[in-house]
Amino acid sequence: MSAIVAIVGRPNVGKSTFFNRLIQRREAIVDAVSGVTRDRHYGKSDWNGKEFSLIDTGGYVVGSDDIFEQQIDKQVELAIEEADALIFMVDVETGVTGMDEDVAKLLRRVKKPVFLAVNKVDNAKRAEDAVEFYGLGLGEYYPLSSINGSGTGELLDALVEVL
Ligand code: GDP
Ligand code: MG
Repeated sequence: MSAIVAIVGRPNVGKSTFFNRLIQRREAIVDAVSGVTRDRHYGKSDWNGKEFSLIDTGGYVVGSDDIFEQQIDKQVELAIEEADALIFMVDVETGVTGMDEDVAKLLRRVKKPVFLAVNKVDNAKRAEDAVEFYGLGLGEYYPLSSINGSGTGELLDALVEVL
């Protein structure tokens, strides 16, 4: 079985754009965890000859009074559980948000490799802005653009090393 990599992060940071850029074919949703509707997209990808499955998470629970529940919904938790490694995506256009901080807090407790991807770094000016993401306390980050593809190779090089 190939390794599983989940892409997590708040809505609109570019997770699906990144996912669609990487996957070669979609995988069928094979099982139904009891009582849980699977709202996660799976795809196959490979890099440097290493094949892996990617999960695109979406669908945060909206409207919950519990802020933590609202932001890090069950689907994301399940994806984190089943993944071997995680890509935590954030958005340089908006900078660090409270929701990013909540996800970072959750991920700091996860004993799996986490790769912080700062998306929408489409140009050099934005590369400078990306430094504020050190503030999330997750260490090194990977600046990239899911739209033009720059920086994605560096992230994938590091990712497949741990798979
Ligand atoms: P998701 O909610 O995290 O899955 O985000 P989406 O992939 O749906 O993207 C949200 C918005 O960000 C869309 O309008 C994308 O076109 C835009 N977007 C995604 N990646 C990039 C990027 O690298 N650069 C820029 N400028 N916009 C991007
Ligand atoms: Mg999406």
